[in-house]
Amino acid sequence: MSENEYDVVVIGGGPAGYPAAIRAAQNGLSVACIDEWKNHDGSRAFGGTCLNAGCIPSKALLESSELYHRAASEFSAHGIGLKDLEIDIAAMQGRKSGIVKQLTNGIKALFQSNGVTGLQGHGKLLADRQVEFTDADGNSSVLKANHVVIASGSVPVELPMAKFDGDRIVDSWGALDFEEVPQRLGVIGAGVIGLELGSVWQRLGADVVILEALDDFLFMVDAQIAKEAGRHFKKQGLDIRLGAKMTDAKVEDSGVIVTYEDAGGQQTLEVDKLIVAVGRRPFTDDLFGDGTGVTLDERGFVTVDEHCRTTADNVWAVGDVVRGPMLAHKGTEEGVMVADLIAGKVGEVNYDAIPSVIYTAPEIAWVGKTEAEVKESGAAYKVGTFPFAANGRAKGMEQTDGLVKLIAAEEDDELLGVHIVGPVAGELIAEAVLAMEFSASSEDLQRTVHAHPTLTEAIHEAALAADKRAIHSINKR
Ligand code: FAD
Ligand code: AMP
Repeated sequence: MSENEYDVVVIGGGPAGYPAAIRAAQNGLSVACIDEWKNHDGSRAFGGTCLNAGCIPSKALLESSELYHRAASEFSAHGIGLKDLEIDIAAMQGRKSGIVKQLTNGIKALFQSNGVTGLQGHGKLLADRQVEFTDADGNSSVLKANHVVIASGSVPVELPMAKFDGDRIVDSWGALDFEEVPQRLGVIGAGVIGLELGSVWQRLGADVVILEALDDFLFMVDAQIAKEAGRHFKKQGLDIRLGAKMTDAKVEDSGVIVTYEDAGGQQTLEVDKLIVAVGRRPFTDDLFGDGTGVTLDERGFVTVDEHCRTTADNVWAVGDVVRGPMLAHKGTEEGVMVADLIAGKVGEVNYDAIPSVIYTAPEIAWVGKTEAEVKESGAAYKVGTFPFAANGRAKGMEQTDGLVKLIAAEEDDELLGVHIVGPVAGELIAEAVLAMEFSASSEDLQRTVHAHPTLTEAIHEAALAADKRAIHSINKR
């Protein structure tokens, strides 16, 4: 092979693309991974949205802000008094940036040790699996590949009446970089990102109003869990206005004047900063030349089958740029699957057992079907719930908000869905994911020994409750 020929060229170095490149190299293939991510300061970094502007920086700030909030509101319950509690936003942001840098540098190191050629610049697929690569200085070359993996990800949706200006009206990335706590913060969209970012700044002292066009709160979450979470968010002071559709946003000297419509008619709201978090769209700008054979669906996603094959031979697509939930781990599993299939190995993603997590406090996490979805399927089912208020570890942690809800088939007891709102729900859900991956029944969970005292006992008890055999709560007959 010549210098510019590879077994696999991956376009995009986010959590879908870089694991695909690493696994392909582990499989003995020659691999190049092209990525064009550019930070606000002009520096380049692998890792895509997730590492640079998404999962990782948001979780760093959620942790810092939660610690501050707990120190201010909860430490006294433990008998700990604090005087002069202060926030140093610069230090908080510095910690966050340090974590991001370590992890993105880690990808470079992984590329080196696995023999992946990392190329920073723009990639464009041409006909016959040729890829045009343009580096930061504008120099172009053409790479030839036996297989191409598209992993170009997604970008925030921009609304025409509230265009991002990088100062007053920002996207989720901008909202992770505020240098001070805005006094009045507006958030458009009460989805995962809107709630997480609203929580960060609210815990640090901002007055937060979240406008959500839909009447249903967290429509994709099990209704009982969403209701429970909404109750706690309200108690925390998050002002979430449902059925409130933003129609205009004007930047003035005093702030942003937001106009929205709700059941009462037209309303206005003035805020210092406005975060627009109304979803993300697949990113395919300048990605395809003529004659590639790759097609997009009506929503702009690259069309793929269940194994992430596009409509062009030996061209694959993974992650946010294809159908399915926009989640880092979903993209990673797709990337790894594709790299194994290219190498002639077995590869599969179980789309029925992909966990989702919302990192609010309490956290929300789930896997499988909601009760409404099970009901709609017509199958007979049983439900077990258990509140963290009756869990010893949760009490010791002073984290008793929330519950575990488990849904199993009446006929054969198979787990259909597990939903958690509560402390570290995002960690707890792993047990349920593994159980569902192994097609476990609620009895399997009932018979599994859970350490005491742990939060996992709430999952155990919810499984027992599905058969009205919970020990630590009253089983309603
Ligand atoms: P991306 O991460 O978007 O990466 C695509 C990469 O490809 C980018 O670097 C881009 O610059 C590059 N690229 C695009 N086109 C080209 C081209 N033509 N040439 C070269 N390079 C190109 N998900 C979770 O699972 N958990 C979370 O907690 C979570 N939190 C989030 C918080 C926020 C604030 C946001 C915004 C997102 C969050 N997500 C979370 C979603 C997660 O970030 C995405 O699902 C994930 O990053 C998608 O991975 P990807 O590799 O498909 O795309
Ligand atoms: P997600 O896709 O999970 O990030 O959520 C985005 C949310 O933004 C959805 O719940 C949308 O209903 C909501 N949304 C979209 N446009 C508007 C708007 N103009 N005003 C208020 N909410 C909106």
